[in-house]
Amino acid sequence: MKVENKPSILIIYTGGTIGMVQKSANGILVPVKFDQIQEEVPELDRLEYNLQVVTFTPPIDSSNMTPAIWVKIANTIERNYSKYDGFVILHGTDTMAYTASALSYMFENLDKPIVLTGSQLPIGILRTDGKENLITSIQIAAARNNGQAVVPEVCVYFNSKLFRGNRISKRHADDFRAFSSPNYPELANAGVEIKYFQENIHRSANKGILKVRTHFDENVVILKIFPGIGRMVFENILNIPGLKGVVLESFGSGNIPTTRWMISQIKIAIKRKIIFLNVTQCQGGAVNMGQYETSAELLNAGVVSGKDMTTEAAITKLMFLLGQGLEQEEIKLHLNKSLIGEISE
Ligand code: ASP
Repeated sequence: MKVENKPSILIIYTGGTIGMVQKSANGILVPVKFDQIQEEVPELDRLEYNLQVVTFTPPIDSSNMTPAIWVKIANTIERNYSKYDGFVILHGTDTMAYTASALSYMFENLDKPIVLTGSQLPIGILRTDGKENLITSIQIAAARNNGQAVVPEVCVYFNSKLFRGNRISKRHADDFRAFSSPNYPELANAGVEIKYFQENIHRSANKGILKVRTHFDENVVILKIFPGIGRMVFENILNIPGLKGVVLESFGSGNIPTTRWMISQIKIAIKRKIIFLNVTQCQGGAVNMGQYETSAELLNAGVVSGKDMTTEAAITKLMFLLGQGLEQEEIKLHLNKSLIGEISE
């Protein structure tokens, strides 16, 4: 039943542990349909919100996430945008950071919350973290102040913290504290009360109508440098037919070995119009090319600094920008600057 003047929230269930059950014989977790969310979590009735659930078929383990499903999520939000005050996306934790980053780039003029959440334990299990994550995410999606959404951005709520979606990485496989946001502070903390940190929350400057961009180019690769990386391996990756962009996961503040073959392979690839975006493989901090000899040549060769972007934010941004049909120089310019708060400036 529709309750008048109550917040309306659309819950989009894509899959993930939160809605999984154990296959009896072997105990393997598989996603199941989750239409009856209110039956699983009767506490939701006490929120007195208008809640609707859309379930993707089939619900997936987020390891099977694809750009096509990002588009499906974005289209679902776009179609329902005027009918709801906020959106909660239930998603597996494994690739939540990628989806949150991708979605953050897709929406222009967003003025409603899109909150991603999930859990480490299925919602049907006694010690689940799913219930608190779900209930608080719904409250955050519904929070308004003077008629405006309190958090009008793509964000991730997990284990009592609200993060900017394009700033997180999954950092723990089984701890309830699965995510960290090393280079950007929390948007909110849910203790006894939900405390919002207004100064950290992004508000769209343009008040135009919502625009959704739905093209991604998948001809990209993440190339993580390690001591002993082989010349043939390196060369073959850069020679993948159709390759357009490389996220180079370098050491420390953006360094790679000074061995000649590596930099000359990068230069050859750049001549072939392949874009290189340099991010650090450290869990925090930023790329600063030119600080050491081992990164100065990258700068001279035309490698773009990803500054303090996470690898997840970097690869999805590269796929997104390549998908927009922009000139190469324009793509490089955008890669180096904040589109929607994914880089500190
Ligand atoms: N493998 C699961 C997924 O990402 C893990 C989770 O939901 O936490 O879908």
